[in-house]
Amino acid sequence: MRNEMIFNESLKYMPGGVNSPVRAFKGLNINPPVLKKGKGQFVYDEDGKKYVDYVGAWGPMILGHCDEEVLEFVKQTLENSIAFGAPTELELKLASLVCETIGVDMIRFVNSGTEATMSAVRLARGYTNRSLIVKFMGCYHGHYDGFLVSAGSGVLTQGIPGSSGVPLDSIKNTIIAEYNDIEGIKKIFESYGDDIACVLVEPIAGNMGVVPSKREFLMELRRLCTNYGAILIFDEVMTGFRVAYKGAREIYGVEADIVTLGKIIGGGLPCGAYAGRREIMENLSPIGPVYQAGTMSGNPVVMAAGYATLKKIYDSKKSFYDRLEKTGLLLEESLRKVLNKKGLPHVINRAGSMLTVFFTTQDRVENYSHAKKCNINIYNKFAEEMIKMGNYVSPSQFEALFISIKHTEEDIEKFVEDLDKINF
Ligand code: PMP
Repeated sequence: MRNEMIFNESLKYMPGGVNSPVRAFKGLNINPPVLKKGKGQFVYDEDGKKYVDYVGAWGPMILGHCDEEVLEFVKQTLENSIAFGAPTELELKLASLVCETIGVDMIRFVNSGTEATMSAVRLARGYTNRSLIVKFMGCYHGHYDGFLVSAGSGVLTQGIPGSSGVPLDSIKNTIIAEYNDIEGIKKIFESYGDDIACVLVEPIAGNMGVVPSKREFLMELRRLCTNYGAILIFDEVMTGFRVAYKGAREIYGVEADIVTLGKIIGGGLPCGAYAGRREIMENLSPIGPVYQAGTMSGNPVVMAAGYATLKKIYDSKKSFYDRLEKTGLLLEESLRKVLNKKGLPHVINRAGSMLTVFFTTQDRVENYSHAKKCNINIYNKFAEEMIKMGNYVSPSQFEALFISIKHTEEDIEKFVEDLDKINF
């Protein structure tokens, strides 16, 4: 079988056979399918097996795989350019589209979500002239040293408390707080408020599984940051253009000072960005003192994929998110019905087209402590069996399932029928 052959060979040349940990399916008794092709809501592996895809490249594939318009624009762009490392009209097109449609003044493109959040924190520190950052347990902001404390995503899946190779010095300025805990964050500000450069938060967490924040919690963060002169950074790498066009800011009606973006903004090609008010963004090099650079940043092919993706979403804005919500709700309700029938205790958290089913007897999952108490063995069994039956779901409890605009009611029907067949 080609899948097994390629993956086994990959183990020789790449640690774990992969280039990012969660892809290795650690904890599952199956190897990851080696993917060859994606079209719409489907992906196909090297053995020709078809899956309904609920991973969506971990978020970017909101239009489904290989959308015709995106492909066409990328192909056209490729005729003239692969890379310049110079200003292009394409980066202006994407920058102006994003700034005008999500209501920020200026943006800087980078190559990943990690770079976006890491650079946003540097900008916040440079702007405030302070060092401390506040991050929440279970939130993941990329693999920058200063964030690898109580982080979610792969760090959580593998039970790594942080990461080796991170000097204590790199995390001594990182304060860890409990997500959704208003009293906790108030106390932190009472003790350290004047030294806090920024609060970094996933306004809807996706990296301990989906855990939306409470509106009062975000409002309190906003109030504290304003009162103490700290910068509020919304990490919308996952939620930007996903839960609503303007991301969680639109849903909660709470404004951040800097927003970090990734995934969808590059249409699936490597991209990240951070954006905010002119007065803050103008602190960036070359006009300000905060240095940040990138050979590949603003690459024309990436900008083309991002532009075609965002333009398509923006032009069909309301109906686009209505459809995602409808499919998301159908998945949530159908899932609940089957799991109740099977008598499996669970909590489903959903934000539009992002969803996590937690296998737990708790009645809610609102923070990292709750998420950690879930039964990983049941999740692993769920993931393993669903993948075998052609539903490509996240191999980890601490990630979201993503729905694209191409997913249909039939896909969801298949999902729940297959789920019904599993003997837990
Ligand atoms: N922030 C959030 C909220 C994320 O979900 C991720 C990745 N899942 C990152 C940052 C890091 O992005 P990247 O993997 O592109 O570096």
